[in-house]
Amino acid sequence: MRPARNEAGHLVLRRVYRFEFSDDGSRRRAGSIVMLSGEVESLTMEPFCCSDFRGAHVQVDRSTVAAQKRWTEDLFSLKVEADISFEAGQFAKLALAVGNEMVARPYSFVNAPTRRPHEFYYVTLPEGPLTQRLCKLDAGDRIHLAPRPAGFLALSEVPDGENLWMISTGTGIGPFLSIPRPRRRGGALNRWSWCTRCEGRRS
Ligand SMILES: Cc1cc2nc3c(=O)[nH]c(=O)nc-3n(C[C@H](O)[C@H](O)[C@H](O)COP(=O)(O)OP(=O)(O)OC[C@H]3O[C@@H](n4cnc5c(N)ncnc54)[C@H](O)[C@@H]3O)c2cc1C
Repeated sequence: MRPARNEAGHLVLRRVYRFEFSDDGSRRRAGSIVMLSGEVESLTMEPFCCSDFRGAHVQVDRSTVAAQKRWTEDLFSLKVEADISFEAGQFAKLALAVGNEMVARPYSFVNAPTRRPHEFYYVTLPEGPLTQRLCKLDAGDRIHLAPRPAGFLALSEVPDGENLWMISTGTGIGPFLSIPRPRRRGGALNRWSWCTRCEGRRS
């Protein structure tokens, strides 16, 4: 943070915020944003690959659908039998063969890491290549699941502090649901004095 002059010549503060982002959930990339008073002066991001989260060339294992629950017209929970470990907040790719192509998309685990089967909460999109097929699956059907979970929206990534805010909209609540509750002695959430979860959704 330094004093600087804006275009009008007034003395203001220039703040530099550094952050990390990921284009595939496994690679860490660096970025920074420079604010001149309340205005964004510049945004810098390491070169990244836009298609990696959706990568069709992902390695997947065959798994079995344990159950499918329809909550509303377009909201579903899919339970999948698979022997893979993950940290609360991470995601894995679900995939189905469409013609000659494997269509893979990332979904956050909703179940706690100790619970099985794995559960994914998703919304169907009108012309979504995968969700329009996912919602037709039933118990016993085959599905592909990438064996290596990824993602940094995990408590181990969050520094110690007084308050923890978990803010989500729509299906973004998924990763927070996988954090075990209630707050038992020695539980992961006990690192913060206050934990608040805020959720926004259309009704
Ligand atoms: C790290 C990560 C975790 C994810 N976890 C979940 C999850 O737990 N549940 C879930 O439903 N989706 C999740 N998604 C989105 C998911 O991977 C798919 O993109 C989505 O299910 C649509 O797939 P599709 O093939 O049907 O359509 P796509 O062709 O992939 O998407 C069609 C359009 O819908 C938009 N879109 C994608 N997902 C959503 C959404 N959830 N709400 C509103 N618009 C959306 C896309 O931006 C795109 O423009 C996650 C995405 C990422 C990157």
